[in-house]
Amino acid sequence: MVILGAGPCGLACAHELQRLGHRDWVLLEAAPRVGGLGSSVVDEAGFTWDLGGHVVFSKMKSFDALLAELFEPQELLRHQRSSFVRHGGSWVPYPFQQHLHHLTQARARRCLDDLTAAQARGRALAETDFASWLEATYGHALVEEFFAPYNKKIWATSLSEMSASWIAERVAPADISALRLALKTGFTGTQVWGPNAQFAFPASGGTGAIWRRLAARLDGDVRTGQRVVYVDEAAKSLLTADGTVLAYDHLVATGALNGLVAMMAGAPEDVRLAATALRHTTVAMAGLGYRSPTTDRRSWLYFPGCEAPFYRATNFSRYAPANVPDSDPGRYSAWMTETSLPAGTLLDRAGLVEECDLALRRCGLVPESAERVSGHVELIPYAYPVPTVGRDAALALIQPWLERQSIYSRGRFGTWRYEIGNMDHAVTMGQDIARRLVRGTAERIYTARPPTVGSADVR
Ligand SMILES: Cc1cc2nc3c(=O)[nH]c(=O)nc-3n(C[C@H](O)[C@H](O)[C@H](O)COP(=O)(O)OP(=O)(O)OC[C@H]3O[C@@H](n4cnc5c(N)ncnc54)[C@H](O)[C@@H]3O)c2cc1C
Repeated sequence: MVILGAGPCGLACAHELQRLGHRDWVLLEAAPRVGGLGSSVVDEAGFTWDLGGHVVFSKMKSFDALLAELFEPQELLRHQRSSFVRHGGSWVPYPFQQHLHHLTQARARRCLDDLTAAQARGRALAETDFASWLEATYGHALVEEFFAPYNKKIWATSLSEMSASWIAERVAPADISALRLALKTGFTGTQVWGPNAQFAFPASGGTGAIWRRLAARLDGDVRTGQRVVYVDEAAKSLLTADGTVLAYDHLVATGALNGLVAMMAGAPEDVRLAATALRHTTVAMAGLGYRSPTTDRRSWLYFPGCEAPFYRATNFSRYAPANVPDSDPGRYSAWMTETSLPAGTLLDRAGLVEECDLALRRCGLVPESAERVSGHVELIPYAYPVPTVGRDAALALIQPWLERQSIYSRGRFGTWRYEIGNMDHAVTMGQDIARRLVRGTAERIYTARPPTVGSADVR
């Protein structure tokens, strides 16, 4: 068997094969390091950066078991999320729609009135596009104040071209009676929304430490710096950039699905066409390190407006003191910013660092006197698989054809399903496909029907 990609999904697949006693596999990774989008880098000044703001959280027992296998309890730092949205020059706690009492009375009233009217009209349908779903669920004012600017910024896509079928737990609900009470009393209750209200982070090495540790457990054939460039599905063989030819019985592919189809010898025209319809975002991670102590206690902040180029800034020295260069973390702070770019944009790295630095200072996150000692940029060409209106139809054409060729495309960009695109999903998909191919057991999340909006899952 050949596994393409040593990100969380490919590594978990290899690990599971090993655990099942199946030793006949080769893992090929194009990059010089393992970890994929979950990897971390150390810059010249000694700051550790992730490829965008990663936090570790899961409801999946198998993922938690893997973490417990890889880390002693003290090697994972546990955090309560503290997250805010930049709005009109001040900060509104996240989720925005549950904290309207932080807006001016007039704005809060307008949001509440529109929300009440929208909910009275009935529930939004999953089959609709994302823009219509937002209007039908939250009402026009909330969409205008927050949802439209934020989502346009992060997805770099028109919201009417996106579907609503992925939402489930990813977008927080708004409870009108709780909002009314909060507007009267300022009391928002004690419940904290969302699956990542508590999260973990490796004490050292960034998120990438998880995947380096997992790779270290593999005693099979792991080859980094080996890019697969051509797949002959009829001959069941593939070619790498250095000219190596490998035969396979099954191919588990975890790179981008459109790239996989493009390098296949005999993909039919409709499959090729469907693959070209898949859309993704590119993100530039600009990490800024300062010789100035970490004083902000918040975890991450959202920026829907134009006061900053980034859509999110993560207080990275707060996640783990070891993310900064000195053994005395009191001396340094680190902010990790994420900016979405249209695919193919020529990136002015130095310009982005300057802009991000100015924005962090303007918003009061970095003191004017703080000396910047690092400005590190990582371009992430494939960052978010966009759930467009036509995505599911395209996937319904591509995936069954691939499976008929004994090719199983899994993971974040392998499935192109953002709703199962986190690390715990990727690991579970990797483990599941290994078990299916060795033992014949059913996959859990890949084959599960996507939860529909309007089901009990969407509150
Ligand atoms: C900005 C951002 C923030 C995120 N935040 C979180 C978070 O907070 N929590 C969370 O759980 N998840 C988060 N994620 C998602 C997380 O990064 C992914 O779930 C995870 O990395 C997916 O693993 P994967 O193995 O499916 O894919 P990838 O990590 O993409 O790995 C695929 C691997 O395949 C390799 N590859 C591709 N093509 C080839 C080829 N032709 N030949 C050989 N190798 C190839 C790639 O180099 C890569 O290493 C975030 C992602 C991004 C981009």
